[in-house]
Amino acid sequence: MDIEKYLEIRNGLPDSVQLIAVSKFKPAEDIQTLYNEGQRAFGENKAQEMKAKHEILPKDIEWHFIGHLQTNKIKYIAPYVTMIHSIDSEALLVEVDKHARKNERVIPCLLQFHIAEEETKFGFSFEECEAMLRGDVFPTLKNVKICGVMGMATFTEDMGQVRREFQHLHQIFNTLKTNFFQNNDDFKEISMGMTDDYPIAIEEGSTLIRIGSAIFGARNY
Ligand SMILES: *Cc1c(COP(=O)(O)O)cnc(C)c1O
Repeated sequence: MDIEKYLEIRNGLPDSVQLIAVSKFKPAEDIQTLYNEGQRAFGENKAQEMKAKHEILPKDIEWHFIGHLQTNKIKYIAPYVTMIHSIDSEALLVEVDKHARKNERVIPCLLQFHIAEEETKFGFSFEECEAMLRGDVFPTLKNVKICGVMGMATFTEDMGQVRREFQHLHQIFNTLKTNFFQNNDDFKEISMGMTDDYPIAIEEGSTLIRIGSAIFGARNY
């Protein structure tokens, strides 16, 4: 872990940007160490791993789910998750809504868009998402709250391309805001930026950066 680096990143952020410390694959002790420095928002990408950590760590931690979420895993996170960044289909949003209702809560969610060149990354296309927002099902979902958008840039050295992809996500945010969420103050987040590209993401309007390896060190998969 690199506490110096953590403090450097955290203390350098504009007030409009929140740091989510991505602790996937890292032990609970590392999360506790960062917690002791004042960090509260942590990101995980596996539901069972998040559940196990949630059970043993302080209850005021804010848990952000950032990975691809299978519907049969929602139950592991629905009771306490702070925000799900990775809504990539209507079917998933419908299931999250069901589990939220069972838990008598409203779960904040972000719509994930596929902005990268790589096929491997998940997310809506703009057309798919628009169809969902115009459809009959979406207005019936009372236990999810759409708070904005999320995306991952292509893994490349070409920072011009990364910047264009972040600009694209910001444009999607603006269009959705105008067309669907004009008078909705909850719709305000743009989750973009990781270890290698977060300074660009911030320049392009990110409000939530998700940083793992710069803080916790390289991951052993
Ligand atoms: C792992 C991960 C991150 C953090 O990546 P780093 O490059 O280690 O900062 C951010 N977002 C998502 C969706 C991830 O899966």
